[in-house]
Amino acid sequence: MNLEEFRAAGHAVIDFLADYHASLAQRPVMAQTRPGEVRAQLPETPPAQPEAFAGVLEDVERVVLPGLSLWQHPRFFGYFPSNADLGSVLGDFLSSGLGVLGLSWQSSPALTEVEEVVTDWMRQLVGLPDAFRGVIQDTASTSTLVALLCARERTTGYSGSHAGLQAEARPLVVYTSVYSHSSVQKAAVLAGFGNDNVRAIPTDEAFALRPDLLEAAMLSDLEAGRLPCAVVVSTGTTTTTALDPVAAVADLAERHGLWLHVDAAMAGTAMLLPECRWMWAGVERADSLVLNPHKWLGSVFDNSLYYVRDPEHLVRVMSTNPSYLQSAADHEVTNYRDWGIPLGRRFRALKLWSMLRTSGVEAIQARLRRDLDNAQWLAGQIKETADWQLLAPVPLQTLCVRYAPAGIEGDALDRLTQAWCARINDSGEAYLTPATLEGRWMVRVSIGALTTEREHVEQLWEMMRRHAAEAAHELKA
Ligand SMILES: *Cc1c(COP(=O)(O)O)cnc(C)c1O
Repeated sequence: MNLEEFRAAGHAVIDFLADYHASLAQRPVMAQTRPGEVRAQLPETPPAQPEAFAGVLEDVERVVLPGLSLWQHPRFFGYFPSNADLGSVLGDFLSSGLGVLGLSWQSSPALTEVEEVVTDWMRQLVGLPDAFRGVIQDTASTSTLVALLCARERTTGYSGSHAGLQAEARPLVVYTSVYSHSSVQKAAVLAGFGNDNVRAIPTDEAFALRPDLLEAAMLSDLEAGRLPCAVVVSTGTTTTTALDPVAAVADLAERHGLWLHVDAAMAGTAMLLPECRWMWAGVERADSLVLNPHKWLGSVFDNSLYYVRDPEHLVRVMSTNPSYLQSAADHEVTNYRDWGIPLGRRFRALKLWSMLRTSGVEAIQARLRRDLDNAQWLAGQIKETADWQLLAPVPLQTLCVRYAPAGIEGDALDRLTQAWCARINDSGEAYLTPATLEGRWMVRVSIGALTTEREHVEQLWEMMRRHAAEAAHELKA
């Protein structure tokens, strides 16, 4: 592709995406695609001769678009919001178009320094003390893996630079709640702790980790000759957005010398609102913290912020220093390759920087408050309506819902729940995620797409009542 072709095709891409965003509300939210349907429409072998980009764009429209579930749709209430603020999208294009790589500060100085500025802006915005230093990782899964590697190395006095975990006298143990994200268990296994040394601590009636049971588990491990190493708490669990008690866990972590990692991947965004910061009170005592601007905040995927209180420790765990990566400026600069796992790094800071500048903080705060209000409105409707249940507190923008008319219980109730959820998803009108809570099916309503206004939540509530009643009718028949 030459530059003139690039110029023309690039304009066409922007026009295509603007039309796509303008038409979202008219499209089905959940892809109505059968397995293999997309592949069957594509050639099995690659082209030997060049094609015009227009052909690629045509296939995106004809084949790809119908095969997508639309996360930017105003009636997307599935999983969690993964917003693509348009200012951030342009920042992402710029990052790709500039085609630069961060291996060291010297390999693209501005890539590092913009990242330092933006991670510090975000630190200020969520009210973290200035002792915290940040780095952008690809995902929270990676951030949490890095946290547990740092925990392991602190507890073992840098075993990794000697014989590693294989030479440890006592097994190291990681603690988290039964409702923490699956990435915590995955990180513990990948970091070498072993599944047998991950404790899933039970929760209270609000699905938050119980510190008394955490302490009991630590004491029993100590007694059995094992060594408590790290605890991961969640500010906003995946299933119900439960809030683990950070301060109470920090007390225990300090008393027993554990690394404290806070997983605020989803709910960290709420901390842009000072009135939400009670939800993670004690966070300043964490050793590390992750929050994902690529979720509710709106910086298009991928963009995960990892903060630590002791960057020197992080660098000592992560750094290798081959001669071809050394430069004269090393003692004055940040080399982010030593703050995480990959060597090569994308210019991810550009999209967050571009989003914050083109939106302004006040508009973002207003949008988050709108979403919290919409969630409270729907919670109020559900509480007032016979046969509908709210299964967990709603501190943020996620509701856990069940329709339980008299006479339908147990497995039949599970079938009803899955049936009305599937009816809505299959209709293409809205998208919800079914999930289990305490062994029974329920439906999660996650509010917070950029374009979701009150009217869309009202439409959803009407659909929920209609489809649930029809599904119950069918089940009885
Ligand atoms: C979404 C989420 C994750 C995983 O995020 P990725 O960036 O996709 O790895 C982890 N923890 C919590 C609480 C989440 O909400």
